[in-house]
Amino acid sequence: MIAYGQKNLHYDLHVDADLHQKTFRVNGSLSFEIAEYSRDSVEVVLSKGVGEPDLDLSGIAVTVAKRDTFRNTSNDIVYRFHFSRKLDAGTPLKLKYEYERGAAPTFQYTLDSNFCMASGYGSAWYPQVNTVDQDGSKGYTRGTGKISVTTVSGITAVMAASKLDTLSAKGIKTYQFTYDRPDIFSLYIADYQVNYHGGAIPCYTYTLKTTVCDPRLIANTAEVITFLTGKFGALSIPNFSIIELPEYISEQTGIGGASLLGGILIPTSELRRFNYALFGHEISHQWWGNLIESTGTKGSDMLSEGLAQYGSLQVVNHFDPQNSILYRKTGYPGYIKDQSGIGYLKNASVGIDEPLTALTGSNGHIIADSKGFLVLELLSNTIGKEKFHAAMRQITSKYQHSRLTWASFIKEVEKANGSSLSWFFEQWCEQKGVPDWTTSWTQSSKGLIVEISQQKPVYKLSIELLIVFMDNTSITKKIEVNAQHTRSVIAVRGKVKSVTSDPEFKIPHWAPDLTEEARALGKTATIQKLRIEQKNQEAEKLALSYIGNGIPNDRFGLEFRLLYYLGRIKANEGNSDKALEYYKRAVQMAVRTPDFLASAYFRIAKIAMARNDRELFHWAKENALSADVLNGESDHMIPKIESLESSFKK
Ligand SMILES: [Zn+2]
Repeated sequence: MIAYGQKNLHYDLHVDADLHQKTFRVNGSLSFEIAEYSRDSVEVVLSKGVGEPDLDLSGIAVTVAKRDTFRNTSNDIVYRFHFSRKLDAGTPLKLKYEYERGAAPTFQYTLDSNFCMASGYGSAWYPQVNTVDQDGSKGYTRGTGKISVTTVSGITAVMAASKLDTLSAKGIKTYQFTYDRPDIFSLYIADYQVNYHGGAIPCYTYTLKTTVCDPRLIANTAEVITFLTGKFGALSIPNFSIIELPEYISEQTGIGGASLLGGILIPTSELRRFNYALFGHEISHQWWGNLIESTGTKGSDMLSEGLAQYGSLQVVNHFDPQNSILYRKTGYPGYIKDQSGIGYLKNASVGIDEPLTALTGSNGHIIADSKGFLVLELLSNTIGKEKFHAAMRQITSKYQHSRLTWASFIKEVEKANGSSLSWFFEQWCEQKGVPDWTTSWTQSSKGLIVEISQQKPVYKLSIELLIVFMDNTSITKKIEVNAQHTRSVIAVRGKVKSVTSDPEFKIPHWAPDLTEEARALGKTATIQKLRIEQKNQEAEKLALSYIGNGIPNDRFGLEFRLLYYLGRIKANEGNSDKALEYYKRAVQMAVRTPDFLASAYFRIAKIAMARNDRELFHWAKENALSADVLNGESDHMIPKIESLESSFKK
């Protein structure tokens, strides 16, 4: 096995965090032995802090000829140290550092008077040492370390999957976290209370004192970890932490959940009722993204997002099977609705599509979490779940010390299958789109004649047919399709009433019961993509032009949704007058959709609260709560309204 990083990276790091002063001082050292590719120079990455960091690289007979800096794609600063002569691979180096990180937010770094989030996956809050793969792609080297964090007493610091010692003296608390296994470090600080649940993997919850949690939160989490371990292999983490992300931070940053090795970050409102799809997704990232990192651009989103969402679907299949079909077709209750078949079709209907192995930018989430996981589900059903999961466990044991490429993923799946699957990967992963077919049938003396006609390109498919008879009994048959037109004669007894192809949506395709709505709402996918990419002005202009052009026969609530998005855009800009106007127009539309209605009222309530308008607040609150009840409480309005009301009282 080839260790891909710099060798033996070890940190001695100290953080002195003061939430009230908004200061985050870091000092310490890191040491490692340089890898072959670093014989000329080494790169250390650090987020922009307050002033210049003090960085001092030293080692045996090392002289730094020059140091230059540039920004990387995450907008962190890369410090490149060039050596005056080529060093031998294995030369030990030591970097001493001291800096004030400050409160300037970056992706997954937040510091305010209540909460600090410093995620090593999204933000180089500590000096991260670059690693370069054979194909030139860069990542961060995982390190072992001792990390001490001092805060005022009463405030809790959390670092998942570490060994912890604490010391208290004179109103100052010191947390000493030890990592014996190399990891990427993430630190969270808040006024947390801690709960513990024993078991094969001990679980902790770190929640704010006022937060109401699902009584089965820890037990369900532990069950999901055990279940997924059976599918994906052993994680070897000492414990597992569920860490609360305060609701307002989730709202500000758009982070609806995150995963770090040995823990997950979950927003307040999602702690009240355990959601199998959300927890399934974030816990699956323990393997796909945290333990197993991908390398190379090809298929990388499928190896993280796609597989995490696939794991989420396995969790739903097992623990909440009555919602499996719904999840695949139109979305799991209380989870992001567009992460489903119809979500993909909406995007594809307006041209937002790329092959699964070539997803770029926001499509990494948009397509991998919709078409992507459905294709992995189909793949696993095609070769058999047992074989597919054997391949996943093989990957987990083989690639946790190196990194996984798409080619290695295919190789392991094909090995488990015993033969080539290139036909599958070519049609599903190397081209965009999904199959589009029509089904027609007649019954004659010969039997039931079923015809499947595909639009081009032609797919090789095994399609289930649900045949219902006049007496309402039914049977299921399979039809193998590999041409534009396939005709099959099926011997049946009794008069046939209806034939439905792929009734359970096991194959992502243009299903007749989804197509019309997907095409009608395609415009919302365009707006949503622009919003994800923070192109708010473009999104606003386009949404207004759609409304301006008129929406005849608006059966699916397109105008309602567009007005809601316009409200969100204006609220983000801080224009609450305009936002309120859009939200009010939205809730007055004749066709409104349940998945956005409670949220529209809730956002009116939020504006009312900021204005201390108790009458408007009360009206919006009541409507938000009743809309949520009608929608199966998918939007968690009770805790959201409660947290709004508590700020009224302040
Ligand atoms: Zn994810």
